[in-house]
Amino acid sequence: MPITAALGGTPLREAIRLALLSPAGLLGRLSRLSTLALLSLSVVGAWALALTVASQTGRTAVEAGFERAGAEALATEQFARKTIVISGMLRNQAQRWLTYSQPGDAGRRADVETTIRAILDNAELGIAQFGIVDAKGDVLWHSAGGHAGFSVGERDHFRRHRDGQVGPIFGRPSPGRDRLLPVSWRLADADGGFVGAAIALLRPADIAPLLANIVERDGSLSALVRLEGELLAGSHRAAPLIGQPVLGDPMREVLMRDGIFRREGPVVQGGPDRLTVGRLVPGTNLVAIGAVDASQTLQTARLLEGTAYLAAIGFTGLVILCAVLVLVAERARHAATEVAVLAAGQAELRRLHARLPAVIFLRDVAADGSSRLTYRAGDIGGVTGWTDGALDDVEDWTYLYDEHAPPRQEMVSRVLRDGSAKHHWRLRQPDGSWRHVVMRMERLSRRPDGGGEIVGYLRDASAEHSALESAAAAREELDATLALAPVVVFRARAWTCAACTWRHGRGCYREDYISGSLEQVTGWSEQALSSAGGLAAVLSPFDTVLEGIEAMKREGGWSADLTLRRPDGTTLTIRMTTRVVARPDDSALDFVGYLVDVTAEREAKARAITSARLASLGEVSGGLAHELKQPLLAIGLAVSNTQQAAEKGDLAAVRARLGRISGYVARAASVVDHLRRYARGADEDAPMVPVPVSTALDGALAVLGGTLRDAGVTLRVEIGDPVPAVLGQLVPLEQVLVNLIGNARDALASRQAGSPRLVTVTAEQEGDAVLITIADNAGGIPERVMARLFQPFVTTKGEDAGTGLGLSLCQGLVHHMGGTIAASNEGGGAVFRIRLPAAPSPA
Ligand code: ADP
Repeated sequence: MPITAALGGTPLREAIRLALLSPAGLLGRLSRLSTLALLSLSVVGAWALALTVASQTGRTAVEAGFERAGAEALATEQFARKTIVISGMLRNQAQRWLTYSQPGDAGRRADVETTIRAILDNAELGIAQFGIVDAKGDVLWHSAGGHAGFSVGERDHFRRHRDGQVGPIFGRPSPGRDRLLPVSWRLADADGGFVGAAIALLRPADIAPLLANIVERDGSLSALVRLEGELLAGSHRAAPLIGQPVLGDPMREVLMRDGIFRREGPVVQGGPDRLTVGRLVPGTNLVAIGAVDASQTLQTARLLEGTAYLAAIGFTGLVILCAVLVLVAERARHAATEVAVLAAGQAELRRLHARLPAVIFLRDVAADGSSRLTYRAGDIGGVTGWTDGALDDVEDWTYLYDEHAPPRQEMVSRVLRDGSAKHHWRLRQPDGSWRHVVMRMERLSRRPDGGGEIVGYLRDASAEHSALESAAAAREELDATLALAPVVVFRARAWTCAACTWRHGRGCYREDYISGSLEQVTGWSEQALSSAGGLAAVLSPFDTVLEGIEAMKREGGWSADLTLRRPDGTTLTIRMTTRVVARPDDSALDFVGYLVDVTAEREAKARAITSARLASLGEVSGGLAHELKQPLLAIGLAVSNTQQAAEKGDLAAVRARLGRISGYVARAASVVDHLRRYARGADEDAPMVPVPVSTALDGALAVLGGTLRDAGVTLRVEIGDPVPAVLGQLVPLEQVLVNLIGNARDALASRQAGSPRLVTVTAEQEGDAVLITIADNAGGIPERVMARLFQPFVTTKGEDAGTGLGLSLCQGLVHHMGGTIAASNEGGGAVFRIRLPAAPSPA
């Protein structure tokens, strides 16, 4: 468990923890490191010591052995030298013997032979027999006698003498049981010519005790070995090896080079371990060997070495054990510290939690939903109304909970499964009353066995419950009030989903609240409305509703007059006004709105418009009367002229006059027709047709031309060629032009006499639209009415002169034809711009 978590992770606690724990921890870590380093060093040291001791002891013992072997080899060499010296003496006698070759020399020869025998009798020297051979190898004389006809001519050592080698040469032992060992010398005449050889024969059996006396002790042995390889003679222990090859080529090479060799190992294959020293006897082919039994020495050395290694291994083990113990102790200490810190942390947590207005708890949950409380803290009394101990004493927990509280096992299982849960229920109080509580739980961890740990809190929700209750009461009151209001207040949500765009009914439009006034205002009960598909389903045109939602998305609010279908099939005009209150996500809007029945207002307005039209009719009639006067006067004149012509019987003149009268009548009829059309108003249902702007303007001027002239207004018309035609209705467009030009005329009327009064009418096609402008130089629209210009009943002309309905009417007519109208003040006058859809070109 991290210490920070145990201490609650507050910055202050963390700082204290670092201050208190870290130095100790650091020191501990350092001392642990140095201890480990020390231990490692001692292990290395122990191994170095063991290796040194082992190799040193071994080497010392081996050196001592070689020393002894060397001494024995030296003694053996000395023995050999003595034998060689004696054999040399015998050779001298043989040389003498040979010189006594005359018949009279027999006595002298006998003396020599006596001397030889005397020498041989000295058993100390180990020479058993002696013989003299001639240049062919035939035996001339032999100490043992009876060797006549015996020849050594084919022997190797004899041939070497014949080839000039003086000797002594140690030859191969003779075959046979006795295996005598020849040591021979070359015999020469006075000129140095080869005359034969003197051969002393040693008996190995005699040499063995002699050598044994000198050297053999403690299992050592000495031997005489031919440089060529085989063992010639030796102390007792060497006896079984006689005749066996004991020198290999490498040793021979060493001997030839250094005169001495050392060898560790058995003398012959399979023999006991020995330390052997061999010395080449100078001037001979004899090698004197001393060998000591090394098995003991080497064994001791190995034993020592082994012991040293064992000691090192033991020490290493000990050190590892110590290290493990140190680490274990360290761990234990660390664990103890952690436990202490944890306990301190928990105590601190408990202390902090005790001040919380909640009971916080941890539960360990088993896979089957059974659980165990592992931590609980907080203001238990304050939250539950029960003291901590009293709660623990409660046997039947179900007594504590009302019917809304799910069984605990089910509750914790759900948290483990879903990650969290919140419950609201009533908790029984000691006095039997109830208290509202809220419990919220979260899953902390989950174990592979299906169990886990959950954390949660319980808090007193009485206050918020009574707040909710009073909110509900307030809402009821509000509902009751709203139910009596002549408006319907509602709250709704509209959203887009993958399957639909903004649609009414289930899915993408929903009313969350609708005031009780619904039925009184609209005739729909809430239930009937909801089965009909909600407000959006009974309002039309539906496109306007969709536009409204788009407008809310853009502008946050919207208002429009819509037709509402009542359950009985009749309709109402409803003004719907909305305002967005929330945007839960990119595609959804929550909005509030109200509906007002404006049927009466609309009717009143329609009536007002009609009366306005009628009111202006009087004014228009004045203009028209003016227009009628001229054709009527002309007709009157033409009639009297016709009468005169008829009286004269001038038929041609009568016809001409009648034609002119008919023209005047047509013109008067057209004027009257305009008046009629004007009085009737526009037929809203009439189809949109191509209307050349000049035609509409002519119609307007038919009504206004006279008054313009009277007012001294100059009209400038700038209409393109071909004349642009709009897709609309002739009469409404005429009415619009009459209104706008009439307003310009009225504004100009107030100008000083003599100042130019100009109205300019232009029309041109701009893409799919036709732009008509009516501009004047009357000083512009007063600022105070500019913002509300197109609203009804806005006028500056005074009660008698103006109704304030003209521009509102114009806007309605232009909109009805699918166009727009705007006003501005430019260049010392007002400019009205009307944009209407252009009629498709005749082609
Ligand atoms: P009415 O003509 O009955 O006043 P209108 O709706 O036609 O009602 O005009 C509203 C007001 O707009 C007028 O009273 C006038 O103040 C202003 N107005 C309209 N046209 C012009 C114009 N060409 N020049 C200046 N003011 C104008």
